[in-house]
Amino acid sequence: MSTITEFFGVNVFNDIVMRERLPKSIYSKLRKTIDEGLPLEAEVAEVVANAMKDWAIEKGATHFTHWFQPMNGRTAMKLESFISPNKEGNAITEFSGKELIKGEPDASSFPNGGIRATFEARGYTVWDCTSYAFVVKDEGGATLYIPTAFCAYTGEALDKKTPLLRSMEAVSKQAVRVLKLLGNTSVLRVVPMVGAEQEYFLIDKEIYKKRKDLVYAGRTLFGAKPPKGQELEDHYFGSINEKVAAFMKEIDEELWKVGVSARTKHKEVAPNQYEIAPIFTNANVAADQNQIIMETLLKVANRHGLVCLLHEKPFKGVNGSGKHVNYSLVTNEGINLLDPGKTPHDNLQFLLFLAAFIKGVDEYQELLRISASSTGNDHRLGASEAPPAIISMFLGEQLTDIWEQIEKGEIIGSKGREKLETGVLTLPVLKKDTTDRNRTSPFAFTGNKFEFRMVPSSASISDAVTALNTIIAEELCKFADRLERVDNSEIVKEVKNILMEVAINNKRIIFNGDGYSEEWVREAERRGLLNLKSTVDAAKYYVSDKIIELFEKHRVLNSTEIHSRYEVLLETYIKQVLIEAKTMVDIVTKDIYPVVIKYAENIAKSYNAINETGLGIGLDVIKNKFIEVAKQIESVDENSAKLAELIEKADKFEDDSYCKARFVRDEVFVQMENLRDAVDNLETLVEEKLWPMPGYGKIMFE
Ligand code: ADP
Ligand code: MG
Repeated sequence: MSTITEFFGVNVFNDIVMRERLPKSIYSKLRKTIDEGLPLEAEVAEVVANAMKDWAIEKGATHFTHWFQPMNGRTAMKLESFISPNKEGNAITEFSGKELIKGEPDASSFPNGGIRATFEARGYTVWDCTSYAFVVKDEGGATLYIPTAFCAYTGEALDKKTPLLRSMEAVSKQAVRVLKLLGNTSVLRVVPMVGAEQEYFLIDKEIYKKRKDLVYAGRTLFGAKPPKGQELEDHYFGSINEKVAAFMKEIDEELWKVGVSARTKHKEVAPNQYEIAPIFTNANVAADQNQIIMETLLKVANRHGLVCLLHEKPFKGVNGSGKHVNYSLVTNEGINLLDPGKTPHDNLQFLLFLAAFIKGVDEYQELLRISASSTGNDHRLGASEAPPAIISMFLGEQLTDIWEQIEKGEIIGSKGREKLETGVLTLPVLKKDTTDRNRTSPFAFTGNKFEFRMVPSSASISDAVTALNTIIAEELCKFADRLERVDNSEIVKEVKNILMEVAINNKRIIFNGDGYSEEWVREAERRGLLNLKSTVDAAKYYVSDKIIELFEKHRVLNSTEIHSRYEVLLETYIKQVLIEAKTMVDIVTKDIYPVVIKYAENIAKSYNAINETGLGIGLDVIKNKFIEVAKQIESVDENSAKLAELIEKADKFEDDSYCKARFVRDEVFVQMENLRDAVDNLETLVEEKLWPMPGYGKIMFE
């Protein structure tokens, strides 16, 4: 392989390729569409499509696909070939502007939370020209991927990308308003920038195949704790073994070719856990890239005799996986609005944007929590070294100190503070590393960006980023409304008023201590912060008037679209837990019983054989062993029967999805834990060779 610069982005229809291959006038019109969000003319699309097709075919592509992100959180596509027959009966290659811009996949089976039952059965995919098309080559050949948004005929979003794009517009609009009011008139757009760190586990493929729970549910439903876990922390940032190193090398190369700037890779805390992070980019592109990263991890692992687990908690007792969504707001002039900056004027601007985050995260805790909800994440939030389910914000010592000063009013015009009477706020210049690290905070300021760490490892980052964009848009909108009402000469004073109010009213959200401690849970309760422990708890806030109003005001989601997402969230939860429960019963019935019954029989036989010697020695040991195993089998049996009963009840449940989800969580899920305890106990009693699946020790350390 040639050097990295030679192959980075070689399979991307990016700006360089467009400039090379498109007529000047067409290129500049497309650029305007991309940069300024102007509508795309049909004539332009026609020329772009043709150039894109020729380029893709040169890259070996035979097919193209509209690549979209339905509400199940993954990606979907339908391949179509470039070939069309002509009149003479020969094949020609064809790809029209229309085909580039719009597709109509038969997508009736994607989750839609009832939207299309009440509207129209069709779904359309629409080209998102702000995310570059690219060619993916794998065993199936080469395909041109066209990133698209997916909508119903009536325009309702059926995917995760459409609301993300709308929310990017919303936050840009409000940020530009605020900047203008602060006298910053040259900024045209503000773009949310995102870099998502992705955690994952790698395990041996042969071992994986022997674990039905991993195959069906993506996580282990049983598994006794091995003698060694992650207590030595000898895996974190450790050296990478050859097999994994070869896998990572291929991952990097695959990602670089399609323009994903995979940059860091290292081992995480849990055994066999790793992390990969690309360089940050525009939020919608980052969301696309994160999907590509997940798909590539799964695909390439398979080529190396490995399986990549994206589940949030594949193993009990060791760390789970998340995604750290790093977020900042950058102007079209390249200024990061979360950079504390060097001049006092910038500081005032910086503090106002920071205030929007503090106020927004406090006022919309529930929305951020919902955006990080998934069945898998329920096991992770609050468990072994992971963000707790409580939303709080880490600002670091320096900024917290400044906010405390603002709160006391010392900074604002108090006597003896000359600097302040000139109407500026001073803030020491912050270097990136002056914020100390706090790994336990779910929402941390890290120098010039925020890091939202609650996001589930297997989910799309779009929900979290959409929520964040919308929340910040709302707070900036409120600020702008206020600033618009005062005279120009009063702007600085009004900004200070806002800062002081935020410092007083929203300070409860700021917490710099140990977020994993019991003490924090009690303290958070005293502060009146929400502690929504499960997806079901969080879901009900989704359809509250407050959240619907917020999304509707900024035209990110309408009430129908929100209700559909609420339904999808609950339906997915119900389905996933029931699949897990059924898998448990299946494993107990078909795999565990035959083995442990055989084992008990062996013990009984040994008892008889030794008894026949007439010596009477050691009989008690065998007898006790038999009793112990038999009792545990009874306990498994009882718990399994109870679980089977609850599954049946759940399957017949006819109430609304919220009630059903509650039943599944409070009854089915609780019983799954009981059954797991019984089975895990049994595992510790039975001969390892006989146990029907590889245990934790084997998966993690061999
Ligand atoms: P960590 O120390 O948390 O692992 P890194 O500095 O490696 O963090 O960055 C983590 C992610 O944050 C990367 O994807 C990086 O590109 C991204 N990132 C860095 N600066 C910004 C920024 N200003 N806005 C958004 N993301 C950023
Ligand atoms: Mg990080």
